[in-house]
Amino acid sequence: MLRVGLTGGIASGKSTVASLFTERGATVIDTDRIAREVVEPGMPTLAALVNALGGGILDRDGRLDRAALRRRLFADAVTRRTVESILHPVILAELDRQAGRAQGPYQVLVVPLLVDGRHEGLVDRVLVVDCSEETQIRRLMARDGETRENAIHMLASQVSRELRLAAADDVIVNDGAPEELAAQVAGFDRKYRELAAVH
Ligand code: ADP
Repeated sequence: MLRVGLTGGIASGKSTVASLFTERGATVIDTDRIAREVVEPGMPTLAALVNALGGGILDRDGRLDRAALRRRLFADAVTRRTVESILHPVILAELDRQAGRAQGPYQVLVVPLLVDGRHEGLVDRVLVVDCSEETQIRRLMARDGETRENAIHMLASQVSRELRLAAADDVIVNDGAPEELAAQVAGFDRKYRELAAVH
């Protein structure tokens, strides 16, 4: 089974590209969804997070308070590493498990953090959705109502565009119209079906 890792910076268009691949019949597995599932109440990973960071990361219903966790992560690099060391192995194992069971002509694994070096062996190819930082900022402001200043800050905390592109086998350029994006996805769908046939 051919596995393609789909990655890209915040608001580059990963979710949009993932939907276009789904429309073409590919199997899409989304890391963000898995990341939410593994911290549902009762899951051992949530207990591990509470052990490490205290009950302040839970809301009144005992669910993970994502905003509270995000504030802690932004404030402190040590906490960030602790949380990553708890979450990443669990998320990757679950991603691998779900991909192992999935069917389809090929699989697209949406992994925002793909190029940080911890995912070797999980995917056969890396597909990067790339766009200019100005486009990212504009989309963050439009989609999430972020201020320009916040958007710039969020970009700065991410893997650099250069590093991400250096890890790419394939690149989708998403600075243009939605139709241009769809055409590029159609091209890669053809390519991946061909590669999957000989994989
Ligand atoms: P990501 O999943 O990488 O954070 P999204 O797919 O959510 O990014 O895209 C960010 C925002 O930009 C969304 O509101 C999306 O609808 C919009 N968008 C993405 N690509 C385009 C495009 N080519 N033209 C116009 N809007 C786009």
